[in-house]
Amino acid sequence: MVRVSITRKKFRFSLGFIVLLLLNSMVFIFTTSSPNYNLSNQSITISQEFNEKSVILMIGDGLGFNQMELVRLIEFGKEGSLSLENLSYHLNVTTSSANNEITDSAAAATAMATGYKTDNGMISVSPYNSVLETILEISKANNKLTGVVTTTEITHATPAAFMSHVTSRDNYFEIARQIVEKSDVDAVLGGGFTRFRQTDLDSLEINGYNIVINRSSMLNSYSNKLFGLFSDGHQPYEIDRDVDMTPSLSEMTMKALDILDTNIFGFFLMVEGGRIDHACHENNKFNAAFEAIEFINAVNQVISYLGSRQDVLLIVTADHETGGLEILEESLNDILPSENNTFAENKQIRMERINNITTNWTTNGHTSKNVPYFSNVIDLNKFKNMSTIDNTDIFDIMVQFLEISEDETISRIFFELGPFLELIFVLTLLSIVAISIRHQFHK
Ligand SMILES: [Zn+2]
Repeated sequence: MVRVSITRKKFRFSLGFIVLLLLNSMVFIFTTSSPNYNLSNQSITISQEFNEKSVILMIGDGLGFNQMELVRLIEFGKEGSLSLENLSYHLNVTTSSANNEITDSAAAATAMATGYKTDNGMISVSPYNSVLETILEISKANNKLTGVVTTTEITHATPAAFMSHVTSRDNYFEIARQIVEKSDVDAVLGGGFTRFRQTDLDSLEINGYNIVINRSSMLNSYSNKLFGLFSDGHQPYEIDRDVDMTPSLSEMTMKALDILDTNIFGFFLMVEGGRIDHACHENNKFNAAFEAIEFINAVNQVISYLGSRQDVLLIVTADHETGGLEILEESLNDILPSENNTFAENKQIRMERINNITTNWTTNGHTSKNVPYFSNVIDLNKFKNMSTIDNTDIFDIMVQFLEISEDETISRIFFELGPFLELIFVLTLLSIVAISIRHQFHK
């Protein structure tokens, strides 16, 4: 009888030890999972039935309400309106990050791409460094085609947050590696050629991509997997762009739609007007206006392309406002840019109009101001009667529209429990040490 009870005691001790070890390894996996992630280890949310629905998310980086007002005044005059104002759903969006009232592009793009706040500088990982699945990855897992278009380097914060997971936005080569090896996006168009090593480019070709480096090769490509790197760094400012060599944001956007809008299971496309932000950091109203005008032009082309389609959710928004732009006064004439003019003529008209608008900037950095949100689809349950949403809600709106099941995946539950799990980790470690010492002592 004595022998039996000792064996049971030992058995219970070993069992407890194993449970604690298992708990520890789980805590390790979920709180410190390497951002050099492996998709096969991730729990991706997959809907019960495949559907044809698609999402186009257009982000003006740094595009506040006053940047939009600047575009309206230049393009359409005091009485005119932007065509996106005809979209049926208008909201404003709060943008703070997990650790700062004023967000950067990395945290803001992570919020929209994953539905979770993270710290400034982090790309689709939580503040505790666990990988957060993105709307692009979820779309991919639901058989949708995917695309990313930007005027910045492709490895820059906003596009990176949809295709990669890193703790620092400056880790460009790791972002490039993940885009090439993991993301499998069908259309990737933007700048940043020098961020990709020769081995990355070789891998892309092996994986069936047509790599294009100028406007005509992009327009003439018939490949269904397209990787465009049109500049060594960011795309040139719209004001300086060689219109024959470098595609505009709207041309890249429409090319991506050519490739993506061919799939019976739909697509996800993110389009970023990425350099509005840079011009606003420089407090340069000319570049800010031209960048924002081209972004709105891309939006207009998408709106005309979609017509009254209800199977595609179009969202036009921003990650944050940059520069604290104020419009003080204007002395505008009636000569507006027109489709009948040449590119050069319109450029001249726009320059004059910008000259006749007096602006003020309050900062060289970002602000905490709310940003605009426009979309073509209304009636999304919990957002129906709201005038202000949070940037994380944009993820929920896209998921709801795509009718992807909202089951809490394991990684999401562990994300919510982040600090709690770290506490458990420390406590279990201490318990193991205490039990081992006690065991030694009683031997
Ligand atoms: Zn910025």
